[in-house]
Amino acid sequence: MSIIGKSNPWTSSLPHELQSLDIASRLHVDSEAIKLASRDFGKMVQTIPSAILHPSSIKDITTLVKFSYNCSVPFSVAARGHGHSVKGQAMAESGVVVDMTSLNNYGNGTGIRVSWNPSLGFYADVGGGQLWIDVLMATLEHGLAPVSWTDYLYLTVGGTISNAGISGQSFLHGPQISNVYEMDVITGKGEYVTCSKHLNSELFYAVLGGLGQFGIITRARIALDRGPHRVKWVRMLYHDFSAFTRDQEHLISINGLDYIEGSVIMNQSPPNNWRSSFFPLSDQARIISLSNKHGIIYCLEVVKYYNELSNDTIDEELQGLLKGLNFLQGFMFKKDVSFVDFLNRVRSGELKLQSKGLWDVPHPWLNLFVPKSSIMDFNDGVFINIIHKQNKTTGPILVYPMHQNKWDDRMSAVIPDEETFYTIGLLHSSGVNDWEVLDQQNKEILQFCDKAGIKAKQYLPHYRTKKEWMNHFDSKWDIFQQRKAQFDPKMILSPGQRIFNSVLGVDSCV
Ligand SMILES: Cc1cc2nc3c(=O)[nH]c(=O)nc-3n(C[C@H](O)[C@H](O)[C@H](O)COP(=O)(O)OP(=O)(O)OC[C@H]3O[C@@H](n4cnc5c(N)ncnc54)[C@H](O)[C@@H]3O)c2cc1C
Repeated sequence: MSIIGKSNPWTSSLPHELQSLDIASRLHVDSEAIKLASRDFGKMVQTIPSAILHPSSIKDITTLVKFSYNCSVPFSVAARGHGHSVKGQAMAESGVVVDMTSLNNYGNGTGIRVSWNPSLGFYADVGGGQLWIDVLMATLEHGLAPVSWTDYLYLTVGGTISNAGISGQSFLHGPQISNVYEMDVITGKGEYVTCSKHLNSELFYAVLGGLGQFGIITRARIALDRGPHRVKWVRMLYHDFSAFTRDQEHLISINGLDYIEGSVIMNQSPPNNWRSSFFPLSDQARIISLSNKHGIIYCLEVVKYYNELSNDTIDEELQGLLKGLNFLQGFMFKKDVSFVDFLNRVRSGELKLQSKGLWDVPHPWLNLFVPKSSIMDFNDGVFINIIHKQNKTTGPILVYPMHQNKWDDRMSAVIPDEETFYTIGLLHSSGVNDWEVLDQQNKEILQFCDKAGIKAKQYLPHYRTKKEWMNHFDSKWDIFQQRKAQFDPKMILSPGQRIFNSVLGVDSCV
């Protein structure tokens, strides 16, 4: 693990005047608090902050940011959602980390409230520190649910909206950031601003996928739809990648399914993993024998939501939607589960790994968006010739397509410039001391893409140099910089992303 920063009697790292503010009692400097905020899910970097703020209100956060803004040498401030980044993105070296989940204990407009109006229909106003699992449970009490999800629900609303928030629903509804109507945001100047498509729209689009660079989200207004009760959940196996992707692309182009994903199963990894233990024990032997035979197989995964009213017709309807697909005969598997169990499918795998001490291990993940035109080259060059050949990883590998037109180009999020693109998730876990081997493999994959002319974009990006960030944002770099100058001119917010030079230091405040 690389350690950035030094040990920190905060009194020497932060301006003394901070102690006289009324938030002082909610600034924690004890070693437990510091330890928590200096680590994340990735377990690969450690960055030591000077203090952690456990805000009891939105005003606590505006006070903190305004104070830093008015210092002659401002200190950095990072909102921390659930700390599920993998490379220190929610950390703040020598600065203050704001634990956004603390707000959930108080109310103050940061809870979960369901409403309706004639122009939006049903929506939920949700605090930035709320976990998606809690949003699901609260909205289902009204028979409603958000339409766009992540595979794992123990992430915060502010954390996923700062990236994009993608899952098998994205082909249909777009990412989570395409389903936000309005937000309350505290800018890097400490201003508390409500923004939407029509009000302070520059800030609105900047913050969506903005990697925490422009403001701290304290409330998001999220689109809701009727929540179904149950889902039909189907997986089909392929050994031919072109048949697999052709079928995925066909399915995202027709109406009817609610979720489409896909994954790669290699003979070195078991068919089930922490992301979901879908395949019953009785089927595992023949799936393993199939993957042994081919080395690599591909698993198309789809879901159709339904309610009791369609009990009698749902199977026929699903059969119609899946007609003509080219999966391997005899390798279709079906499940019928509750909507909640489906959306929360990763949790049981997490709990199992936690009980074995295998959850809190390094996660050298790489997530990419790959243009459809390059997906065959990616399969040959990466899945077959790097990952399978090197045989270093047993983590889940995701691959599924989505439509560019479900993403608004005004948002900060970066995607490939092609109508259809694939999301690739290489969700490696490693032992404590060998994550660098997988990190190195990730670098090799990125180099391969560069050399092969595959115009992949990193999702949940991590770069070391300004040049790499400029390449990443490409034509959006100028606007990204302008927005930074407008909303966080002193570069206070989310320094752990390492996009702009972070501001550090001690000095007096004006
Ligand atoms: C097991 C697991 C499964 C995952 N599955 C998916 C998936 O299916 N789809 C997907 O899209 N992602 C997925 N992710 C990635 C996840 O969306 C990101 O890591 C996300 O940033 C985590 O949210 P968090 O609340 O932990 O944010 P953190 O890691 O705490 O923060 C992430 C970034 O957002 C900033 N930030 C946090 N809160 C706020 C706020 N309120 N306002 C402004 N900025 C803020 C932070 O400063 C930081 O820069 C997964 C991650 C894990 C660990």
